[in-house]
Amino acid sequence: MSDFLDNLGKVVNETAKKAIKASGDVVELTKTSLNIKFDEVKRESFFKEIGGIVYRGYRISPESVSDEILDFCRCIDEIENSISAQRAKAAEIKKKKFCVNCGKELCKTFLFCYSCGASQPEIPDEDEEEEICECGCGCEFGLGNEGDCKEPGPCGGGEDSCNF
Ligand SMILES: [Zn+2]
Repeated sequence: MSDFLDNLGKVVNETAKKAIKASGDVVELTKTSLNIKFDEVKRESFFKEIGGIVYRGYRISPESVSDEILDFCRCIDEIENSISAQRAKAAEIKKKKFCVNCGKELCKTFLFCYSCGASQPEIPDEDEEEEICECGCGCEFGLGNEGDCKEPGPCGGGEDSCNF
């Protein structure tokens, strides 16, 4: 009976040791896989850096790169041109609005539709900051400083400012 218990103890012990080793292997494998991923990401970012350096060199002197690289650089040129054109188009679209009644394309600043006459909501300009008088009268014509305001208003600013 005691032999049996001894053997059982040994078997349990071995099994536990194997389990611990297996779980240790899993942890080690996970760590290794993560390290590989990390190194691959770093490698990609260095490739990108090198690409940027080569392209900037090509922009300065196109003769400095080999024919193989020249083709890639010309592709990048085309992409740059396409991006510029699309940015200009997006800026143009932002200046347009459509009639709330008939759908006619209108200039963003139009307050009435020239086609159907419907009145249009005002669209604030996102790009241009409206100059607001800082003298406190609330007019839009102030130049920022008290006294610069030429508009009559209730603020009682400088001599040249509001007359109220
Ligand atoms: Zn209309």
